Amino acid sequence: MRIAIIGAGLAGLSAACHLARSGHQITVYEASDAPGGRAGTVGGDYIIDNGPTVLTMVELVEEAVSAAGSRLSDLVELIRVDPAYRAFFSDGRTHDGEGSIAVYADTEAMRDEIKLLAGEKEADAYLRFVAHLARLYEVEFPNFIDRNFNSPLSVLRPPGSFYSLLRLRGFSRLDKVVSSYFKDDRLRRIFSFQALYAGLSPLKALGIYAVIAYMDSVKGVWFPRGGMNQVPRAMEAAAAAAGVRFEYGARVERLVTSGGMIRGIELSARRFVDADVVIATPDRPLFDQAALPNRRIPARLRYAEYSPSAFLMLLGTKESSPPAFAHHNIFFGKPWKESFEALLDRRELMRDPSVLVSLPTITDPTLAPEGKGIVYALEPVPNLAGKVDWLNERGQVRAAMLDRLQKWGVLSDPSAIATETTIDPLDWLDRGMALGTPFSVSHRFFQSGPFRAANQDPRYSNLLWAGSSTVPGVGIPMVLTSGKLAAQRILEAGGRS
Ligand SMILES: Cc1cc2nc3c(=O)[nH]c(=O)nc-3n(C[C@H](O)[C@H](O)[C@H](O)COP(=O)(O)OP(=O)(O)OC[C@H]3O[C@@H](n4cnc5c(N)ncnc54)[C@H](O)[C@@H]3O)c2cc1C
Repeated sequence: MRIAIIGAGLAGLSAACHLARSGHQITVYEASDAPGGRAGTVGGDYIIDNGPTVLTMVELVEEAVSAAGSRLSDLVELIRVDPAYRAFFSDGRTHDGEGSIAVYADTEAMRDEIKLLAGEKEADAYLRFVAHLARLYEVEFPNFIDRNFNSPLSVLRPPGSFYSLLRLRGFSRLDKVVSSYFKDDRLRRIFSFQALYAGLSPLKALGIYAVIAYMDSVKGVWFPRGGMNQVPRAMEAAAAAAGVRFEYGARVERLVTSGGMIRGIELSARRFVDADVVIATPDRPLFDQAALPNRRIPARLRYAEYSPSAFLMLLGTKESSPPAFAHHNIFFGKPWKESFEALLDRRELMRDPSVLVSLPTITDPTLAPEGKGIVYALEPVPNLAGKVDWLNERGQVRAAMLDRLQKWGVLSDPSAIATETTIDPLDWLDRGMALGTPFSVSHRFFQSGPFRAANQDPRYSNLLWAGSSTVPGVGIPMVLTSGKLAAQRILEAGGRS
């Protein structure tokens, strides 16, 4: 069977690895000239990631690479990032006098840190919270995330798992669950802000999204030597070694159909390639509309609600990273509820935003010339359905970010900047991402699990989808799983050839 995979991002690479040894003839068509997609880099003297910086659940990368017959450790060196984060609070109220707390994945180290910050009771509550997260993860991952659904009712099967999720307060509000363990407002923030990764307010998300905190703050965070793009490069190498073909600079313009089936793909330059099955990973619905212009996109995507977007500032600096910081730093703005109302309800810029600042040269100094550093700052901002006029306001957003970086001491002075790149929602739109957000359709309950646009296309039985806009969703662990789930559908339907 000839299988065409469109896109060499993490979803397409995962599908390629999981199918690599099936005996089918597999080709990956990628529009750009390198693997990685959103997990890419800005090259030059400084190797700066311009997408994900927090690598969790490395076992999913290992699983894909070993499905293709390779060993991950032979292809890339993964370094444990410990602490996973350092969280900074604007009022400076912490035991270290710097206004910060380290978030360790090691449970005992984290318990000690919480004891110093907030006392014995909160430290004991942390142990109970971790036990809760572990139980939630055990039920949720196999039954709600790592699973193909054939109908919304499948969420009720097996019945035991659904009731376990109910009992674990998976359908209660996340902030209520977290607050039932912690009285300290700073700890409540640290263990609930991750809902934003799913495009949700931590104050409105359901308890099931606590698993994101489990994936990073408890299971731990890793960084590949050489930058995040080394992960897709390792996966590409594993798939290629098992016989998968890769074509770069190969933009798929259209899916060729006849008789209710996909017959192949049309690349730019009017080149046609036959395919028996297609796995498409570009962002929907823009790709869907362009590639199948005569078909309406499924209703779940037509009326979908999208996640907020991100403003990125990527700096190569003439100075090394200041030692007071960790690799990943979260600077919490003072307001909490008001910030999420601004971002998600009113769709405005947050007045005093929480910002992720990643300083990867703390873990891997070779990413920058000797003695120099990298600053990656990410501010959540509204997507293009919001009220920001990016053409006119991007300059102010940039200036405000530079001011903050200086105020926090991450950057001594703008004259220390050697290279600068900024990416805002208009840039994400230029890269083919609907509503200018790289975080796709949000994860509110009726856009998650069996309610999210399915990976089996309802119009063509030999068209499958993988990536952020289908199941299970957004983020590296999710899109790796999405590639595996699409591959599983093929292996289960056609068997191994
Ligand atoms: C700024 C930012 C920060 C993030 N932070 C994190 C994080 O810390 N942790 C985390 O887990 N996740 C994070 N994410 C999310 C994560 O990066 C994405 O969910 C994931 O990389 C998406 O992978 P994908 O394969 O689904 O899509 P993509 O990476 O977009 O891959 C799709 C591929 O298809 C190609 N393509 C598109 N159209 C065509 C076409 N017509 N023909 C051929 N090829 C085409 C594209 O070039 C691309 O290579 C972040 C994302 C961004 C942007």
